[in-house]
Amino acid sequence: MIAESLPHFAFFVDPFKDDAFERSEEACACCGKPRGWRATCGIYSEADPDTICPWCVADGSAARKFRGHFNTLETVDGLSQEHAKAITERTPLPLTWQDFDWPCADGEPCVYLGHVRGDVLFEENDAAKIAACREAVAAFYEDEAEAQDRLAACAPGDNMGVYVFRTRAGAYRILVDFD
Ligand SMILES: [Zn+2]
Repeated sequence: MIAESLPHFAFFVDPFKDDAFERSEEACACCGKPRGWRATCGIYSEADPDTICPWCVADGSAARKFRGHFNTLETVDGLSQEHAKAITERTPLPLTWQDFDWPCADGEPCVYLGHVRGDVLFEENDAAKIAACREAVAAFYEDEAEAQDRLAACAPGDNMGVYVFRTRAGAYRILVDFD
C-alpha cells in the first residue's frame, strides 16, 4: 500500500493518537477502499456502516452518503453553519464513555486536544490546564484529596475519562465522564 498523508482535522488535534481512529484492513463503506484506518466510534446514521476511513470523515463524503453525523454540538449564539457542519459532518467522534455535546465558546467550536493521562498532565506542568482539570474532576467528589488522586491516576481504560478542549481565546474547557 502506498503511504498517504493522514487528513487534518481543524477541531481535533490528533484523532489518530487519541483513538478516534484505529488500524483496520477493512474496506471503507464510503469510498470502498481499505485505507488502513477506521473511525472507532463510526457515524450516527440509519445505515450504520461498519467501517469509515479518516479521509471520508474529513471531506464530508461519509456524512453525505449515509445522511449521518459524527458529533452533536452545544447550542450557542453566533455559531456559523460552516463551523457547525465542520463538527457534525467532518470531525470524528472522540472515544468517550458517555455521549456529549461538543463544547463551544465565543460562537465557535472548541478544539479538542485529547484525553488526559494523569502522569502526562502533571509532567507537562501547564498550571492552567491542571487547574481546569482539578476543578472539573472535583465536581464529582466530596473529598478534594480523592479527586486529586483520581486525576493523577487517570489513564487510558480508566473508568473516569477526562477530556480537554481549548477555546480560541486559549482557555481550557474540560469534560469528565464515567463508565
Ligand atoms: Zn473512505
